[in-house]
Amino acid sequence: MKILVIGGGGREHALIWKLKQSAAVDRIFCAPGNAGTAAIAENVAVAASDLPQLCVFAKQNDVDLTVVGPDDPLAMGIVDLFTADKMRIFGPTKSAARLESSKIFAKDLMRAQKIPTAQASTFSDSKEALRYCEQLKFPVVIKADGLALGKGVIIASNVATARSTIKAMMNEARFGDAGRRIVIEEFLRGTECSIHALVDGKNYRLLESARDHKRALDGDEGPNTGGMGAFSPADNWDPKLQSQLENEMMRPLLRGLSKEGIAYRGLLYPGLMITSDGARVLEFNCRFGDPETQALLPRMKSDLLPLLEATIDGKIDNYTIDWDKRASVTVVLASAGYPGKYETGKAISGLDEAAKLEGVQVFHAGTKFASNEILTAGGRVLAVTALGETIAAARALAYEAVSLVQFDGCHYRRDIALSAVTS
Ligand code: AMP
Repeated sequence: MKILVIGGGGREHALIWKLKQSAAVDRIFCAPGNAGTAAIAENVAVAASDLPQLCVFAKQNDVDLTVVGPDDPLAMGIVDLFTADKMRIFGPTKSAARLESSKIFAKDLMRAQKIPTAQASTFSDSKEALRYCEQLKFPVVIKADGLALGKGVIIASNVATARSTIKAMMNEARFGDAGRRIVIEEFLRGTECSIHALVDGKNYRLLESARDHKRALDGDEGPNTGGMGAFSPADNWDPKLQSQLENEMMRPLLRGLSKEGIAYRGLLYPGLMITSDGARVLEFNCRFGDPETQALLPRMKSDLLPLLEATIDGKIDNYTIDWDKRASVTVVLASAGYPGKYETGKAISGLDEAAKLEGVQVFHAGTKFASNEILTAGGRVLAVTALGETIAAARALAYEAVSLVQFDGCHYRRDIALSAVTS
């Protein structure tokens, strides 16, 4: 089979690394890819958002299956486009992907199906939002309705921050169209957890649990990022929460979608807050998480390809997924300045030495190959994953590997998975 993976981050490198282990796979293309994907697949110089060119490429190269990594092409309708051309593609349609691309759509659906989530009000008029925020108890969470590169969620600890956030989003269009409408919701206290599910329209299979670290600095300080690390299994997940997820979230969600005439096919993962009253949905994501995927796939023993195909074909209930009992820890190495402005073009050393350690996988994110060197080319540069008998062992090995890799300005968190070791 010929496979096209769309995207160019650590998630896509991990997906290709896993798909390449499938006996049925002959060739893998990655658009646009990075230096890591170039080493194990064929990079194609087409942007993940260039839907027409991706379609042309897949057709001209007889691609049998396309797997979409990031959220943008899904929100733009890549699945609808490929399907209309009778090409197989893994991911939800544009309409189903609204679960992630419109927080208001997701909130309305959760409300209608009584899915536990933060209490929220939605606004399309800034004057109304400003009036509303005068009477709130703080902190509150203000969210742009649309996709904003993970930056459209602001925790306002007082009315002044709430006012300036509302103005920036709604009046000054800081997030473009994404902030034209907003959600203001209750601030939930607890710990977060990511649960991935392969959803085939009617049924689903859960993947193992994972936790990610969104803030830039140790101790959950600093600004939000795309994710600075992850580990699996999550230390705050248990069978009781899993049955709450299945009964109060997944099944009602699929019921609600089907009422709207939507069959969801693809990867769906709710981001959850585990509060003292149980789990609450913070958001729905319509694609594999980054960096959760880099922590999850090294633990997956089953072949990924038949699982993706069964998801498309509505047959996921015929499959079980086997997992390595070992734990995994993923540490993200970022460029100086990330998630703000950062420099690129720094030479990376120590990659081969780190990859030689048994149980270690070095996934590339923002990297490129130029003049016989691997250079930094993005904010998040690498995701280093290690497996271990315990989280503590995986953590020690991941940081040993990280210590071997160097580039100018490299920064990473030193406390990934620490809570799971010390608690
Ligand atoms: P979202 O994109 O909605 O998941 O928001 C991004 C991040 O903001 C989440 O991973 C949480 O860390 C935080 N967050 C979102 N909603 C809430 C909430 N209601 N209470 C507390 N933190 C939140």
